[in-house]
Amino acid sequence: MKFIDIGANLTHESFENDLDTVIKNAELAGIIHIIITGTDLSSSIKASNLAKSNSSYLSSTVGFHPHVADDVKESDFKIATELLELKNAVAIGETGLDYNRRYSSKKAQLKVFEQHLELATDIQLPLFLHQRDAHSDFYPLLTKYRHKMLGGVVHCFTANKEILDSYLDLDMHIGITGWICDERRGQGLQEIVHNIPKNRLLVETDSPYLLPRTLKPKPKSRRNEPKFLPEVAKSISEHSAKTLEEIAKISTQNAITLFNLPIGNLTPISLGD
Ligand SMILES: [Zn+2]
Repeated sequence: MKFIDIGANLTHESFENDLDTVIKNAELAGIIHIIITGTDLSSSIKASNLAKSNSSYLSSTVGFHPHVADDVKESDFKIATELLELKNAVAIGETGLDYNRRYSSKKAQLKVFEQHLELATDIQLPLFLHQRDAHSDFYPLLTKYRHKMLGGVVHCFTANKEILDSYLDLDMHIGITGWICDERRGQGLQEIVHNIPKNRLLVETDSPYLLPRTLKPKPKSRRNEPKFLPEVAKSISEHSAKTLEEIAKISTQNAITLFNLPIGNLTPISLGD
């Protein structure tokens, strides 16, 4: 089985010493491509360089997470735009709104998010989106720009059915992480995951965060890695009427299509709904 991790924070300091091993282990686990998340200027530059160094296996996103919105300068967007023109950049983001922890002011978050949306209408790359406790501000902005942009993924989706439906109405993709493997806080997601149409499902680890709680034996370290992605897919299959093979196939094909990834030789499958 083959999987694509559409969201891994491999520029995180916890991967500083053994990134080569982490990537090798991901390959052994059937992960055929990884998209490295850029969350601020320095991680976007690092992600871009990593992707350049191994372009058949790694790609990157470029953007500014809502947590850092307060510190984003106009000149940062200039550099981001240059990075997005490189061929290894496959998405704009991580961007969005996060009113859960409010590391940045609402005002700055809204401004920076809208700048990404503007950029997505110019550059025509998909968006890599983050939304937490901010749907009422996030959704109208996304709706306003949706017809002018290519689309994108609402990554690490953890909200309810109503919010899920609203994203599907806009033809957005939905990224599922190890949140679904959490028997306590993942319960709501477990109940609605079967509602995600085949052609909209993506899987991601959000490494080093969100280590799947269902892994057996429990890893010694709490650091999540791309090699654990099949565990996320396994949980999705258990909570929807689909086999693990099917989840692997459809999520891989969706990732290749949405992000236009440089991967060939996969038999195309029909994604009816
Ligand atoms: Zn996020």
